Amino acid sequence: MTLDLRELYQDIILDHGRHPRNFRPIEHPTHTAKGHNPLCGDRVTVYLTLDGDRIADVSFEGRGCAISTASSSLMTEVLKGKTLAEAEALFAQFHAKVTGGEVHDLPEALEEDAERLEPLTGVKAYPARVKCATLAWHAFEAAVKGGGAEPVRTE
Ligand code: ZN
Repeated sequence: MTLDLRELYQDIILDHGRHPRNFRPIEHPTHTAKGHNPLCGDRVTVYLTLDGDRIADVSFEGRGCAISTASSSLMTEVLKGKTLAEAEALFAQFHAKVTGGEVHDLPEALEEDAERLEPLTGVKAYPARVKCATLAWHAFEAAVKGGGAEPVRTE
């Protein structure tokens, strides 16, 4: 990665960490779940409004480090308007990129969204931060599966 790109990515993470998008509860969500990353102390609640299998609205609240907040913010931005299958494909690729798994190509329609998540894939070099970057996604998955009273934990 070139230094310029690294700086650009850093700026995007800092911007979303300081000014998270879709940082609000949804009053009557169809789905919601909490996530907790005890390793870092990040806590997130993800709210969803599903219209059939399409994500009509998605938001989050919580307290966490810059990486977890930026990741939650970017996640809500890319997921809005997507189908659950598209969301799953985006998470699978993102997860593979940050954990060093096998990365599969996405349908062309999702490439732009995957690129927006690219700044966060730098956490791959910092295994302890991978959980910060994936926490909101795990909470999203848990919400889709029906949530539950207990937060999903990364540990
Ligand atoms: Zn964190």
